[in-house]
Amino acid sequence: MQHVAVNPWVALAYLVAGVCFILALRGLSSPTTSQRGNRFGMIGMGIAVVTTLVTHVPTITVLVEGYDYAALLSAVDTLAVFEIVAAIALGAAIGITTARRIAMTAMPQLVAAFHSLVGLAAVLVAAAAFLNPVAFGIATPVLTPDGGFALINPVSRIEMGLGIAIGAITFSGSVIAFLKLNGNMGGAPILLPARHVINLSVLAAIIALVAYFTLDQNPWVFWTITALSFVIGFLLIVPIGGADMPVVVSMLNSYSGWAAAAMGFTLHNSAMIITGALVGSSGAILSYIMCRAMNRSFISVIAGGFGAATAAGGADAAKTDRPWKRGSAEDAAFLMSQAEQVVIVPGYGMAVAQAQHVLREMGDKLKAEGVRVKYAIHPVAGRMPGHMNVLLAEANVSYDEVFELEDINSEFAQTDVAFVIGANDVTNPAAKTDKTSPIYGMPVLDVEKAKTVLFVKRSMGGVGYAGVDNDVFYRDNTMMLLADAKKMVEEIVKALD
Ligand code: NDP
Repeated sequence: MQHVAVNPWVALAYLVAGVCFILALRGLSSPTTSQRGNRFGMIGMGIAVVTTLVTHVPTITVLVEGYDYAALLSAVDTLAVFEIVAAIALGAAIGITTARRIAMTAMPQLVAAFHSLVGLAAVLVAAAAFLNPVAFGIATPVLTPDGGFALINPVSRIEMGLGIAIGAITFSGSVIAFLKLNGNMGGAPILLPARHVINLSVLAAIIALVAYFTLDQNPWVFWTITALSFVIGFLLIVPIGGADMPVVVSMLNSYSGWAAAAMGFTLHNSAMIITGALVGSSGAILSYIMCRAMNRSFISVIAGGFGAATAAGGADAAKTDRPWKRGSAEDAAFLMSQAEQVVIVPGYGMAVAQAQHVLREMGDKLKAEGVRVKYAIHPVAGRMPGHMNVLLAEANVSYDEVFELEDINSEFAQTDVAFVIGANDVTNPAAKTDKTSPIYGMPVLDVEKAKTVLFVKRSMGGVGYAGVDNDVFYRDNTMMLLADAKKMVEEIVKALD
């Protein structure tokens, strides 16, 4: 018997890649350092991919004399560099084309689609390792009179079982999330009778089978774990309503990281373990932050079906005949140019209208007239975490004018004009007062406390993501500016001239 030592240069390269990924996450925690963070991420991934390519040989940890390795390794072509490079080129071409074409507003479903691929990759790697374990260095060949078989190490079976279970859950869960976010499937929760009992039974069966897999490596065990995990991924996500999908996408992101980490153990690849753990833990932290921002319970997200009772997902339009005031671009320009401080609150509608550039222009003009201009960002404004920050950065809005909810909320009372552009739910005071509201408990921006609220949206009937009416529209200090966000701001800019 002989153990093949790990090449210290490979370990070092993977360590450097791991450090780059940590620096990437660090950089991404603030808009000012996010580009540097992205670069670190790219460098880390480059190092990891090149190192893996250069050291692409099967890692046989245990050798037995007289065993026919040629037969077992026949499926492994160590010189398949052409195939690997071709796969990378194809993947890169698809990735670049998709990234260029995708609209910012369709980002959540794209992320869900990509997570499904990570889950599927974990399933495929686990299946490959199960079908040819000697090539992956996770089995001891056993000689028998009729040839032999590969006895997979019990620890590797646990890693493989967990990898395939989490990978399959991530895959089917992400596919459902994609279909719901993309509108191919209704956003409304699908509630099966006794779903909690069914879910718990299926989860218990998966855990029991992963444990049994360490005793018996029979293929039926492996494939049953796979099938049940695909089913539970589906069962966990169908009861979740559209309004809660963002948290689900972030949670699935976390699952995909854990699946990759589990497979990293099977492949003896420390870069995969580090990267998977980083994705898993950062995804979990992001989910926690989003849960807090949307007032959802973190535990019930993990359990699944948490949003069923409250999710509305834009189902009911506002139906009201309460009086409201309509204003024009000229009115808005006059009010803002007279103000000492204007706080701009962007939301999903700004993203749809792509109004960020002209909005910055409006801010510049107001600043030129001596007005203090600030931007207030709600953590779940738009349709993905950081959506507004990205758009404002794209329009070169200075970072020191951009404030998070907790830093700006106390300022609305001293603000002359709150300029709400395409935001709705994140300003809805019902979240503070109406216990029956689907958004009750979500922290919101207190725009109604400003002297004047200018509210840009296209119609009085249009509602936000949660599908509820907003009391701010009907307040005495509110003026509705009904138009497409970009057109309205263009007209305001003209009026300011
Ligand atoms: P909302 O979805 O609450 O409201 C969007 C508003 O924009 C609507 O009032 C709509 O009214 C208006 N609008 C749409 N298009 C235009 C346009 N072209 N010009 C002008 N106005 C337009 O957005 P918020 O950003 O306030 O809130 C985000 C919501 O999305 C929250 O409920 C959040 O929980 C949820 N969510 C958040 C995610 C995240 O990670 N950030 C992901 C997924 C959901 P009208 O149709 O009348 O124009």
